[in-house]
Amino acid sequence: MTAGKFLMVGAGLSGAVIGRHLAEAGHQVQVVDGRDHIGGNCHTARDPATGVLLHVYGPHIFHTDDAEVWDYVNGFARFLPYRNRVKTTAQGQVYSLPVNLHTINQFFGKTLRPEEARAFIAQEQADTSIEDPQSFEDQALRFVGRDLYEAFFKGYTIKQWGVQPAELPASILKRLPLRFNYDDNYFFHKYQGMPEEGYSEMIAKILDHPGITVKLETVFSRDETADFDHVFYSGPLDGYFDYELGRLGYRTLDFEKFTHEGDYQGCAVMNYGDLDVPYTRITEHKHFAPWESHEGSVCYREFSRSAGPGDIPYYPIRQLKEKALLADYVARAEATSGVSFVGRLGTYRYLDMDVTIREALDAARGFLQAQSAGQAIPAFWTAPL
Ligand code: FAD
Ligand code: UDP
Repeated sequence: MTAGKFLMVGAGLSGAVIGRHLAEAGHQVQVVDGRDHIGGNCHTARDPATGVLLHVYGPHIFHTDDAEVWDYVNGFARFLPYRNRVKTTAQGQVYSLPVNLHTINQFFGKTLRPEEARAFIAQEQADTSIEDPQSFEDQALRFVGRDLYEAFFKGYTIKQWGVQPAELPASILKRLPLRFNYDDNYFFHKYQGMPEEGYSEMIAKILDHPGITVKLETVFSRDETADFDHVFYSGPLDGYFDYELGRLGYRTLDFEKFTHEGDYQGCAVMNYGDLDVPYTRITEHKHFAPWESHEGSVCYREFSRSAGPGDIPYYPIRQLKEKALLADYVARAEATSGVSFVGRLGTYRYLDMDVTIREALDAARGFLQAQSAGQAIPAFWTAPL
């Protein structure tokens, strides 16, 4: 086999995992990132003043049902058990999320047991006239009813997405469980944890291979494609084409950092459900590493707004009206040779870390197979539409 020369645009999980796989197969891999650090949006770094490990681009908790992905990450970092237990402040009280038996009993001033609560929500709260909910709002009204929807979801979602919940797909709410017991684990996955030294340490180990070189503060330009046998691009799909057809919608986040001596809020994540509180949540980073001990504390107030040129794209909005524009970019990408579009931005989909790694492993394997069989390399390994 002759060694190929491949470029990974982006030193986040997508670029690192694909790059590592190709390097292990004997190829030369160049990784570039426009930022001055590796890790993409999972980047973690220690705050110099307090020593607290910061989730620089927002809180990241690893959770998956994918045993191969779990083994993979454990090969590069020591994961310690971590359960995401989120609280929300709404209508003057603090409640437990995801909506569970404690939330329901506290909210309605009741002492229901699981089956009673299930019956109460189904018979007295849920809007059963909605048969097949398509929008976020209908999904909420159908499954939890108007009172809980207005307290916990409506205001938060308007702040987070900048549109009415009736214009958003039901899939966004389906990410959250509804529980009729006192389990307040935010996720339902089999494997959950936090890398002891953070995600950037883990990604540095993934990139630590003699076949890989990393260049930071290096923005990719399309002209470079010809210098490589193939490019894996994990930047924004519309950005690759210089936004020639228009911009796909993203939400960006502003983090207002503040410090505190001691314990500011007693938990890692406090959401704010009321619309008149301008931020969506406050994260207190030392609580993401309960095995560490720090006197000082670093918190982020998180504000969400529409991403303009120059802003970091965080959440793909994927409103229905964007489908046509997305389809046009997908067609462009499919007509372009020498590059595959990967990851959260390259495929314009909200991907959790475990899914990003799964797709990166599948892309790298598929690529090597197609290459050795002399087959055409697709623009996408997972279709964005
Ligand atoms: P990214 O991490 O975005 O990396 C892409 C990289 O490409 C970036 O570093 C960027 O600088 C670089 N780049 C882009 N264009 C260019 C260019 N032209 N030239 C050079 N470099 C370029 N997932 C979970 O599993 N659990 C969570 O709790 C969780 N929380 C999240 C919270 C927030 C606020 C956000 C936004 C995401 C969260 N995620 C979470 C998702 C997680 O961040 C993604 O799954 C993961 O970062 C995707 O990795 P990626 O490599 O595809 O993209
Ligand atoms: N959500 C909400 N209230 C909350 C938490 C979440 O309305 O207190 C909604 C919101 O629209 C959010 C979605 O549920 O985008 C998914 O929540 P998740 O916590 O998965 O958000 P993410 O991790 O994407 O920030």
